[in-house]
Amino acid sequence: MNEAHNIKSSVVGRFAPTPSGDMHLGNLLCALVAYLSAKSKGGKFIVRIEDLDPIRSPRAGGEKILDTLCRFGLVSDEPPIFQSDRSELYREKALVLERMGLTYPCYCSRAELHAAEAPRVCDGAVVYSRKCFFLSAEEKAKKELVRKPCLRVKVPNEVISFTDAVYGDYSQNLETECGDFIIRRSDGVYAYQLAVTVDDGEQGVTEVVRGEDLLSSTPRQIYLMRLLGYMEPKYLHIPLVCDSFGRKLSKTEGDRIAESLKRLPKERILGALGYAIGIIERDRAADLSELTGLFSADKITRGAVRLPESL
Ligand code: GLU
Repeated sequence: MNEAHNIKSSVVGRFAPTPSGDMHLGNLLCALVAYLSAKSKGGKFIVRIEDLDPIRSPRAGGEKILDTLCRFGLVSDEPPIFQSDRSELYREKALVLERMGLTYPCYCSRAELHAAEAPRVCDGAVVYSRKCFFLSAEEKAKKELVRKPCLRVKVPNEVISFTDAVYGDYSQNLETECGDFIIRRSDGVYAYQLAVTVDDGEQGVTEVVRGEDLLSSTPRQIYLMRLLGYMEPKYLHIPLVCDSFGRKLSKTEGDRIAESLKRLPKERILGALGYAIGIIERDRAADLSELTGLFSADKITRGAVRLPESL
């Protein structure tokens, strides 16, 4: 059911999956919490398919995710958007940053990035030395002949802080802990950090709900939001999903659960997830409207999310 007619507030929540595989339980949990959080405040819930990478996250995967969401009643109040349709918008916003003198092409290969002794790493990427920022026009032209550059944005030596609804206060010094980061890959595909910021800003998103693996991306996104003049949303990062013993889900366990998602009645799954995240006190069946009525961010589990054995 589309609940757009019930919208009473300016709260806009979103679920923004990357369609790189089948929807798994962690995704479903994120979608559910994003939905409940927005709806419990009378707000809007929107879905955005982050299919930036045409090879790893094909559009058809996005359609499949939308079908799964639909089965659980997690329907977007606006027609879902696909990031693969929006590269022109990302290009415009990258240009705004360029006009501020904040972007520069980087020609470094992976080997060069890792050449430094004991390179510092942030989210799997080396904290960049800023080497290419200092290249002259002639040096750039020479390098351009052999290698297509990526585009980096320069970050200030500044601490960006925010308060997450689950994790509390979080701070990061962009220059020392993260470094100048990529906003367009060398193959011309705009990077997640830019696209997600532009879309959250353009779509008027007021709350971002997602997995804790993206906690450390948030300061970069807040930085870009400020530069591009967008309103900063509130953040709620969901702890890692674990099995009933509190262990990280193994592949086998994940596959088994993916099967039970297909088999069990939807209220049974919604209830189990509501229980796992702390919204209801017992593992039982529950529907979306009941969970919406009971939702409060304060109830969300602070530690790992333990899945009940019923799933
Ligand atoms: N597309 C990202 C993912 O599926 C999530 C992006 C976000 O919620 O900010 O991991």
